[in-house]
Amino acid sequence: MGPSGRLQINLSAVRHNWRELKEHFTGSDCGAVVKADAYGLGYAPVVQALFSEGCRSFYVATYDEALEVRKLLANRARIYVLQGCPAGLEREFLNAKLIPVIISAHMLARWCEQAKGHDAPCAVKVNTGMNRLGLDKTEFSQWITQPERWASAYPTVLMSHMACADTPDHPLNEQQLKLFKELLGLARDHYPELKASLANSASLYLGDAWHFDMARPGIALYGGREGVRPQADIRPVVTLSLPVLQVRDVKAGDSIGYGATYRAAKAMPVAIVAGGYGDGVLRSLGNCVAASYAGHNLPLVGRVSMDSCALDLSSLPESQRPREGQFIEIFGPHRDLTSLAEGAGTISYELLTRLGGRLKKHYIEPL
Ligand SMILES: *Cc1c(COP(=O)(O)O)cnc(C)c1O
Repeated sequence: MGPSGRLQINLSAVRHNWRELKEHFTGSDCGAVVKADAYGLGYAPVVQALFSEGCRSFYVATYDEALEVRKLLANRARIYVLQGCPAGLEREFLNAKLIPVIISAHMLARWCEQAKGHDAPCAVKVNTGMNRLGLDKTEFSQWITQPERWASAYPTVLMSHMACADTPDHPLNEQQLKLFKELLGLARDHYPELKASLANSASLYLGDAWHFDMARPGIALYGGREGVRPQADIRPVVTLSLPVLQVRDVKAGDSIGYGATYRAAKAMPVAIVAGGYGDGVLRSLGNCVAASYAGHNLPLVGRVSMDSCALDLSSLPESQRPREGQFIEIFGPHRDLTSLAEGAGTISYELLTRLGGRLKKHYIEPL
């Protein structure tokens, strides 16, 4: 077996982060968003860790994802499907006890038709400014002004999604909150028991007003810090380490990698490590960010190739240079995922969900 990169996933940190968020969201049912294979970390271990910690509301994007999670949980937790119920799958949703997040009047009408007599809960999503999914104002008023028309729907949650929660000063935050409260008030005139859910990870830290009855954090569970207050105790979950294939001495004036985008100003030692965009190590990381080794920053020099990339070892004393087969941390406890993503012009969400290829996942649960 040849050397391949290692993705270490710390399930104790996932549990810790969920507890940290839950304590923050006092009064809310703190769920967990586990779409896209739990942000690339693997449904089974993540869902099981969160369930055993007490999480009982899980959010996925699609029907197929919901089935994966349902298999793991049997009927012991609620599963919300954020893209709602596609036409023709209503029976399947009812059988698997999935809760669709209704995103349009059409979808609501279909659900009413098929869910008649089932008392099957649904969530209704309203658009408050994101303009992605959800009932617009006209659809919303049709819904609440003609309750008899939708009598067979059994809405339990009103939901909306924040567009700029990671930018606390953005004026849209207050605007969305105001509109959401207004719509919630109107909806509760007809459905007094209706719960409300607005917050993703970053919204938590906007203030209590955004919390409502149910919270839907995702990225913070997995160690991403976008929009998270620096003082919040969110711990790193994922460590990406790549093994050294070769250490080479590059002469002054030589270039490194495709396109010769990096040129060595002076003679420098370079480690070629196994792991490239074929494994989800984004090309945009090349020439932009630094990995971490023995307390030193090692810049990624040149473009990321499909199977490898190059790290500048100049900052290391000769005696500390890594040798063939040793692992170097690209991100993890010593190199913050979110700032690395930022350095490469992206977000931790994209970095995590792209990881794959030949990387080997190792799950750990330190006490
Ligand atoms: C992905 C998603 C979330 C989770 O967002 P994070 O920023 O990862 O916390 C919450 N709600 C909806 C509707 C989503 O699509």
